Amino acid sequence: MQLRYSFRLYPNGPQRSALARAFGCARVVYNDALRARERARAAGEAFPKIGDLSKLLITEAKRTEERAWLGEVSAVVLQQSLRDADTAYRNFFDGLSGKRPRMGAPRFRSRKDNRQAVRFTANARWKITTGGDLSLPKIGDVRIKWSRSLPSVPSTVTVIKDAAGRYFASFVVESSPERLPEVASAVGIDLGLGHFAVLSDGTKIDAPRFLRRAEKKLKRKQRHLSRKLQGSKNRDKARVKVARAHARVADARREFHHQLSTRIIRDNQAIAVEDLAVKGLARTRLAKSVHDAGWSAFVAMLEYKAAKFGRSFLRIGRFEPTSQVCSQCGVKDGPKPLHIRLWECGTCGTVLDRDINAAVNVAKAAGLAVSACGAQVRPVLVPAQRGEAGTHRDGQPTVVGIPGL
Ligand SMILES: [Zn+2]
Repeated sequence: MQLRYSFRLYPNGPQRSALARAFGCARVVYNDALRARERARAAGEAFPKIGDLSKLLITEAKRTEERAWLGEVSAVVLQQSLRDADTAYRNFFDGLSGKRPRMGAPRFRSRKDNRQAVRFTANARWKITTGGDLSLPKIGDVRIKWSRSLPSVPSTVTVIKDAAGRYFASFVVESSPERLPEVASAVGIDLGLGHFAVLSDGTKIDAPRFLRRAEKKLKRKQRHLSRKLQGSKNRDKARVKVARAHARVADARREFHHQLSTRIIRDNQAIAVEDLAVKGLARTRLAKSVHDAGWSAFVAMLEYKAAKFGRSFLRIGRFEPTSQVCSQCGVKDGPKPLHIRLWECGTCGTVLDRDINAAVNVAKAAGLAVSACGAQVRPVLVPAQRGEAGTHRDGQPTVVGIPGL
């Protein structure tokens, strides 16, 4: 399976200028490719092939006065940009013919886009130096922070600049599945209403404080921005601040998703989630919380980690309203207004916690044998003795023996 690994890059002044040039040239070639195709379409001609575009928009363009500067950046970067334009068109046409979800026609790229990126393949002869820098053609040896180790040597690196002005190197690496010791437990996970996630064993998980704090800060900065005058210098400054706060929230959220998904995968042999079809939810009032909580990003993480560590990952469709069915006797008890947190099953008399009951139903629908006692009101927890081993100081269990997570 292929996994993506990202690391923070710290280019110096001249390297930042060289990268800005590379982003700019890649953008120009991309836009030229879009224009060439639009022209062909308007003239009723056949779509130009990528090889022809390469000759016309890179090789020949370099010899003209107005595109001579394309020679200042690695030719591979420009080739990859053409390839991106080609893929964008292919996806667009596949959408029209129904082979994949419909999407808009490729858009022109702008220097104001939130994300600038260039890709170097093996042909570009980029490398990791003995000193641990990332050596990029026509840019130089860029300092990189190796926050974890790569499982194998990547062939391609994408260099990204985000809206907050940070640089990243992103590698796609081939990775073979690793085995974790087998465990007996299985778990169903439900998107709780008041919680980020609820597990069928009765655990309710909230976003950690560091994430909530980052989110609060972002909201404050956004309010600040909206009060600034359009087009003013202060507005520009505020916008950068918002972008930085945004990036911090995204990072904190990703970190939280990583910690939680690793824990769930390590502790369970089989994991079931409900396919929420986020698109359908987008119109409901649940929408905002679903998007904010990044539920689909979290589920995707669970899925690839399950594949990576030999666990079963099951996704159940929305065929049954999981919160209306009693997980003990299976009788559908009818809809419950959102404010009802606990209800008593009219048939078997079990008192059910709405969220935990739903999580147990998710597990059962996926064919997992979970202990249904979690669906009942949770027993009061007995605090552990001080100094008792088990979890890490900060409350997050340490992850031992799972490299690369
Ligand atoms: Zn019942």
